[in-house]
Amino acid sequence: MQTTAPYDVKAVRQQFPVLNRKIKGRDLVYFDNAATSQKPIAVIEALANYYSNYNANIHRGLHTMADEATAAYEASRHAVKTFIGATATEEIIFTKGATESINLVASSWGSAFLNKGDEIIISSLEHHANIVPWQMIAEQKGAILKIIPINDDGILDMDAFALMLTDKTKFVSIIHVSNALGIINPVEEIIRMAHEKNALVLVDGAQSSVHLDIDVRKMDCDFFVFSGHKIYGPTGVGVLYGKKALLEMMPPYQGGGEMIKEVTFEKTTYNELPFKFEAGTPNIADVIALQAGIAFIDSLGKSAIREQEDILVQYATNKLKEIEGLRIIGDVKNKVSVISFIIAGVHPQDLAILLDNQGIAVRTGHHCAQPLMKRLGIVGTTRASFAAYNTIEEVDCFIIALNKALKMLQ
Ligand code: PMP
Repeated sequence: MQTTAPYDVKAVRQQFPVLNRKIKGRDLVYFDNAATSQKPIAVIEALANYYSNYNANIHRGLHTMADEATAAYEASRHAVKTFIGATATEEIIFTKGATESINLVASSWGSAFLNKGDEIIISSLEHHANIVPWQMIAEQKGAILKIIPINDDGILDMDAFALMLTDKTKFVSIIHVSNALGIINPVEEIIRMAHEKNALVLVDGAQSSVHLDIDVRKMDCDFFVFSGHKIYGPTGVGVLYGKKALLEMMPPYQGGGEMIKEVTFEKTTYNELPFKFEAGTPNIADVIALQAGIAFIDSLGKSAIREQEDILVQYATNKLKEIEGLRIIGDVKNKVSVISFIIAGVHPQDLAILLDNQGIAVRTGHHCAQPLMKRLGIVGTTRASFAAYNTIEEVDCFIIALNKALKMLQ
């Protein structure tokens, strides 16, 4: 088994100030990367640089700092376009996160194009962010929500999906990589099948965008969403990619400044893309700093990061399997960077506290996927998730801490 990192992980760690932290007297082991990744110094400095040197509102001002801020903001849009392989910057809308991006599509597209009896398909693996907005619009419009089932390992039942697709199917919204289990879904196949029925597809890339190469053109998704804070960028910024022709047909999501061409009390005309969907002063600083998060990923390359994360997943999986009563949920080949597990007789919350006492940060609970937990017949899991800066030594610390905690609990 390979345990040598494809790059100098120590040097990478030096770019992340928070990794020097002690938690309860111990070195921090941060294995909660699927919730949010830590930030490299370049991201932190990009935020400070904006506020220290050119804080100004964008697109409207005719002064030097406004021009600088506008240029930096639009450069980020360009960086995102390249990051996901979009055709044009008009297709990149900044939101505050994946959640807002999904709400934007459900609300805007749904209000204009959904009719009574239409069907929307999601899956049993979805994060609440890709369930609730569709429930809300389905209720408003009298549409029907259908759920693709999974097997006990968390694999989508594609035969069931094929049967579910009908002429009534108008939209499929699907998680790319499961946040709870790490499983990669066959989104290309899903998109192809949905398009055969003329249904649109949104891919929730909140967990995939940091690990997998994303090429929205090749994937042929109609919408793709992700959050900046999970790709080494700041919180408060997210992305909605949409095919230009679709975004052009959709009504605005929110009204206000920036999104208009002309306002009179009688009638307002809307701005062109992407501004039509960016009402009000956007999250300028965080959008600008997102570029630095993308640059960090590019500096190592996604495939090298994935190689390192795969080494950690493999190593940790083997070690975890030696623990009596431990069961990995979603123990499949086609997964990334997440190990979710349960241990007979141990409540995940108790385990999290005992791990935190030893400096280990993991996530426990339902991972915002309560229907998935219900389907699997469990209350929650303990989830360890890895990033570019994690090491084999940290996995060893984690396993020692876990065994210690289990001795106390069992
Ligand atoms: N979808 C998935 C798969 C996620 O993991 C998350 C975040 N945990 C979201 C959507 C929502 O992202 P955010 O909270 O950043 O809007």
